[in-house]
Amino acid sequence: STTVAAPAAPQKTHCPYCALQCGMELTPAGTPGPDGRAPLPVTVAPRDFPTNAGGLCQKGWTSATVLGVPDRLTTPLVRGADGGLTAVTWDAALDLVVSRVRAVQAEHGRHGVAIFGGGGLTNEKAYALGKFARTVLRTPNIDYNGRFCMSSAAAAGNRAFGADRGLPFPLTDLGGADVVLLLGSNPAETMPPFVQHLAGARGRGGLMVVDPRRSATARLADDGQGVHLQPVPGTDMVVLLALLHVVVAEGLADRDYLAARTTGWDDVVRSVAAWWPERAETVCGIPAEELRATARRLAAAAPARGGRGAYVLTGRGVEQSAQGTATVTAAINLSLALGLVGREGSGYGCLTGQGNGQGGREHGQKNDQLPGYRKIDDPAARAHVAGVWGVDPATIPGPGLPAVALLGSLGTPGGPHALFVHGSNVLVSAPNADRVRERLAALELLVVCDVVPSETARMADVVLPVTQWAEEEGTMTSLEGRVIRRRQAVDPPGEARSELWLLAELARRLGSDVAFPTDPAVVFDELARASAGGVADYSGLSHARLDVAEEAGAPGLFWPCPAEPPGEPAHPGTPRMFLEEFATPDGRARMVPVDHAGPTDDVRDDAPTYLVTGRVLQHYQSGAQTRRVPELDRIVPEPYVELHPQLGLRTGVADGARVRVTSARGAVEAVARWTDTVRPDTVFMPFHWSGAGSVNRITSDAVDPISSMPEFKVCAVSVAPVPQM
Ligand code: SF4
Repeated sequence: STTVAAPAAPQKTHCPYCALQCGMELTPAGTPGPDGRAPLPVTVAPRDFPTNAGGLCQKGWTSATVLGVPDRLTTPLVRGADGGLTAVTWDAALDLVVSRVRAVQAEHGRHGVAIFGGGGLTNEKAYALGKFARTVLRTPNIDYNGRFCMSSAAAAGNRAFGADRGLPFPLTDLGGADVVLLLGSNPAETMPPFVQHLAGARGRGGLMVVDPRRSATARLADDGQGVHLQPVPGTDMVVLLALLHVVVAEGLADRDYLAARTTGWDDVVRSVAAWWPERAETVCGIPAEELRATARRLAAAAPARGGRGAYVLTGRGVEQSAQGTATVTAAINLSLALGLVGREGSGYGCLTGQGNGQGGREHGQKNDQLPGYRKIDDPAARAHVAGVWGVDPATIPGPGLPAVALLGSLGTPGGPHALFVHGSNVLVSAPNADRVRERLAALELLVVCDVVPSETARMADVVLPVTQWAEEEGTMTSLEGRVIRRRQAVDPPGEARSELWLLAELARRLGSDVAFPTDPAVVFDELARASAGGVADYSGLSHARLDVAEEAGAPGLFWPCPAEPPGEPAHPGTPRMFLEEFATPDGRARMVPVDHAGPTDDVRDDAPTYLVTGRVLQHYQSGAQTRRVPELDRIVPEPYVELHPQLGLRTGVADGARVRVTSARGAVEAVARWTDTVRPDTVFMPFHWSGAGSVNRITSDAVDPISSMPEFKVCAVSVAPVPQM
């Protein structure tokens, strides 16, 4: 059944996909679907919201299609004796889950059950999931796919500033800057409405893009609008160290700011001494004079030197590395040296990718955190959260395994033997994915909660159909730390239920007396209390307050937003953080010296080419949703390999032929596309598909020692034509 609600008033909500959270209005009982398909459940129209200013990308425009895809999950499924998935009642499915969980706990202990969450879940669901893991399952083993997304930037931001909010300033601030330095990010494809915020810098010739590909974003810097630096993959760190070397050598640092607001500058100065531009050029391939010119242009934009302001922004290209935390730290050091951070009109930020990548990391579905972005091993945090949950702090488990280690230990002695997956398709999105498939197959119980039968869901023992964006109420937190409302426009189809209900049912059936409310507004109030006093303090917020603020023209409120004492005016939220001081114990930003180490899986004789991965405009993450949208699938229906004509000629791979790309982990095959937008030493593959061309089957699962972020972005491969049969 795909029944929808009777037509009701249009609802203001946000796109289901990326962290830009573009504003939309949904009108129920929508227009006829394209190509004579059944009417879509809602009609999508863009609306004015600060991040999109009335724009949507192709993914957003077509998002209603995902609500009514033919294979939408509408009833619980369990694997039968014949090996197939069979529809059952919720009672039957939940009873089965409970009995199997109990059996696994009896044999392997409480840590034998694990949860893998998602950065697309609402704040309320992310919170409930963390609470369920710690109070009902009482397992330490919960982590989520945000580990693959922003964990290096989060680790570096927390270390430097004492807090991690992707952009600690409103996105609209970018428009006033002279320079935006964008490292490892391609928003022109991943979040196209973002590009309008670069117009100011482009108009002043100040868009600087660092990317081994001449991406759609890099091309925005053409024609005098900026500069594209195209380093050897895996050497972004060297670019940053060289830029800071020039800042030091030419006396461009903001010494007053450094003295007043930071610690560690002298050590950082020593750490960049060896990275003069001519030496850096030999490693990163960017001419020394370009490095000097870039550093001078960036410094001239700094307020201390009379400029209008400058921003340094990082994305997955530099963060998804075994030296990701160190590389982001180098970007932060550069920003601090120029006095950009905590100053209106300038700053450092990370462009979070997933829809609730920001909120998803604040409420307790990370292995080492409790709600309010608190550390799970902090006794005061444990006591506070335990009080809100009504449990003994001693019963809250300590830190569990981070994502890659968790997936790698499934079904092994001492590892988890039962896994709940919520809103994640790890068979396509995790690195070294064939190994993940082996580990999932070794489980005694795999439960997948999703809206469509993703590749991961198709391996499950139990599949539970859950609600999605236009079918539910809740909140999300945009890449700017702006807490916004998600609103329901249609009823969920068939038997699909909210995860809030599902977790409450499981808690009850597992004999827990911990309360799990199912009303999202009530869950939010509890989340807000749990966050009180934490870094990400939501205690002054509620669904009702967000609704009233939006009606009054405030589209969302920024955390931290603490509750004020009775009688005091409500806290207005914090659009710009760190203006007075940083969230560190002494209020100063920590500068930490770092150095270049290079990729873990570096090029060598038998694997002489770099592989880099990324996204295309039409598809989102593992493609589980967008591959089901015909208008998007038609444009980019299959994976491909971009390679430079010189590499094609050298390896005998013709344009349009099938090419085999082999790493230390295995081989994938796809169609070759010759292009001069990649370096002759590099191939590029988008990662949205399963099957023979699923690139994460061959990416590296080496991890950053601090953030546990896997090294998706670069590995060594060989490239060869696929023999004709
Ligand atoms: Fe906006 Fe991102 Fe949705 Fe595109 S996918 S419409 S950029 S929120």
